[in-house]
Order: sequence, then C-alpha cells, then structure tokens
Amino acid sequence: MIVHMKDRREAHARAVASAMASAGFEVSRLDLPFGLFLVGLGREDDGGEGIESLPGVDWVRRDAKGPVLAARERHPEGSQVPLGGIPVGGEDLALIAGPCSVEGRDQIRTAARFVASYGATALRGGAFKPRTSPYSFQGLGKEGLALLRDAGRATGLPVVTEIMEPSDAEAMATYVDCFQVGARSMQNFPLLRTVGQAGKPVVLKRGPSASLSEFLLAAEYVLLQGNPDVILCERGIKTFETATRNTLDLNAVPVLKAATHLPVLVDPSHGTGRQDAVIPMARAAVAAGADGLLVEVHPDPDHALSDGDQSLTLAQFRRLVEEIRPVAEAVGRRLRVPGASRFGAGTGPRTRRGSGWGALI
Ligand code: PEP
Ligand code: MN
Repeated sequence: MIVHMKDRREAHARAVASAMASAGFEVSRLDLPFGLFLVGLGREDDGGEGIESLPGVDWVRRDAKGPVLAARERHPEGSQVPLGGIPVGGEDLALIAGPCSVEGRDQIRTAARFVASYGATALRGGAFKPRTSPYSFQGLGKEGLALLRDAGRATGLPVVTEIMEPSDAEAMATYVDCFQVGARSMQNFPLLRTVGQAGKPVVLKRGPSASLSEFLLAAEYVLLQGNPDVILCERGIKTFETATRNTLDLNAVPVLKAATHLPVLVDPSHGTGRQDAVIPMARAAVAAGADGLLVEVHPDPDHALSDGDQSLTLAQFRRLVEEIRPVAEAVGRRLRVPGASRFGAGTGPRTRRGSGWGALI
C-alpha cells in the first residue's frame, strides 16, 4: 500500500502511519522532492480500510503492480538529478565519459583531462568490472577507485563507477559521486536497496534482457529507499542480431520519458559494441530526446584491458561532441563546454575547477 499525503504536516503523517501499522503493515516514510509518501509493506493489500478518509491523505494505491514513485504523474515536469554542478534531466545534456576500466594513473588522467576539456559533465571508469569470463581483467578494485577519484579531482569532474557488491558501498562512498548499477545487476535487489540508502545519485543500466516495465520496477526499488536521484540508462538489449554486440533500443527513450519522470541516458558504446557505430548512435540518441550520453573513451583503445572495440579515441570523442552539438540544439538541449573559446582550437586540456563554465555553444 502506498499513501500520498496532501502536504507534509507531521501530525497527519503520524496518524496515517500508525493506522497502517495497526492494520499490520510495516510502514516507512518517504520524504521525496515530489511528495510525502507512507509505504506499507509486509502483507497483501486487503487491510487498512478507512485510511483514505484520514485527514491529509491525498490518495491510496493498493494495487501497485507497476511503478508508482517512478511514474511520470508523480512529477510531470521531470526530475533533475544533481551530478556535480549540472542537473541531469535539465536543459543541459549530460555527458558521462571515460574508459570502460580504470587501468592506471596515466590512462585515467589522460582520459579525464581530455573529456573534461571537451565538455564531459562527469568522468566514468570501472574499478570493479562485471566480466563475462572470470579469466578477463576484473578491474583494479580499490586502487582503481583512488585513481578515478584523483583524476576526477584534478579535472573538477564528478566520478561515476560501478558497484557490484552491496558490502562495498560504504568503502566506495568516499571515492565516488555516483554509483552505477550495471546491466547485469539491474535485478540485484539487495544492491538496489543498498544504493537506495547510499545518499548518492545512481545510474541504473537496463538489463540486456529486461523489459522497460522491469527496468522501471528496478528503479522503483531505489526510490522506495528514499533516494530520488535515479538516472536510467539504455545500453542495448539482446536480440538475434550478431553484427552488433547489443541492439541499442532507442524506442526506450520516448517510451521511458513518457512513463517516468526520471532522466534517461543512452550508452551507445555498450549498445553497439562497435567504435564506428558509437557517434551515429549518439547523434540518434540525442535526437530521440535522451537527457545525456554515457560513452567509453580511451587514450589507446587498441590496448584497452576491456571494451577496446567500442571505446572512442580522444579525437573521436572530440568529434562526437562536435557532431551532437547541432543535434542537441535542434531538440532544444544545450551542450556546455568549459572555456568554449578554446573549443576546437586544439589547445589541449584544461581543468574546470576555478575556470567556471565557458560560453554555451
Ligand atoms: C560498463 O559501463 O562498463 C558496463 C559494464 O556496462 P553494462 O553494465 O551496461 O554492461
Ligand atoms: Mn564497458
């Protein structure tokens, strides 16, 4: 049972919570930016008659099979999730870029400087990698987290990295600005609950075989823990096609945007698995209305320890930014680039800290 309160009046919320508890529900209170909710779990929804008529109650949902908190109606104007200085889901296009895995200090620093100088809004890099084969590189672990954090600090970029184990959350929290829940973990319910309690934004990737409805219910798990800062990411699904690693489902963008208030990113790197397809699909994703992109960029993709085939070179990342810019403008989005006067001038990396944002281009 989910109860939405008309306002945040304490006395009303308390009375409703105690009526729900007396009816046998385990009650939690969710103070979300788009409303105060009382959630009753632990029994089938056949109790608590009369709660509808208690003072302060707006509505009661007893038949919640689909997402309630993630539903667009909860917040028709759309949620904006703070990630560094830029709200994801606002007018600015989010650009989360960096290597698949953190491999060493020079690699992550070089990637960070470059993507920062060409407009990335956050730095990505995996330290704990979910690899299909147990013999593949599994990531640098804690050392990778420290390198990622240092590269983020050096460039002023917030950092995003994947969490695989709920028990890692506390130790990771000092290193990361945003947790990524990977495609393979989309229905790892303990992990979803953990990131729901971790007090940081979450990029939730769609499972390769998950329907959009399952994807939204996974997001609902995070919201239900009181964390409103969920960013969805379409990253390709399994189909019969073998020419690409996955099939990037761009249908997901308008369909999710209609169904939920949460921001929607697209990852054309995992969505295609092919370097030559990343930029065209990035353009298409922006045209489709994505709130941003998550892209793999490596200083030397040929020698990458993971996902080299789909990683852009630094020069290709710069081309991606140049090519999505007119598309973004055409659909009413902005692409902010620090020190825009230097954009395209080949003057190399600069840090964002202290320089502020440059002009909008
Ligand atoms: C990644 O972002 O490097 C990754 C492993 O992504 P996914 O979970 O979408 O496969
Ligand atoms: Mn990857």
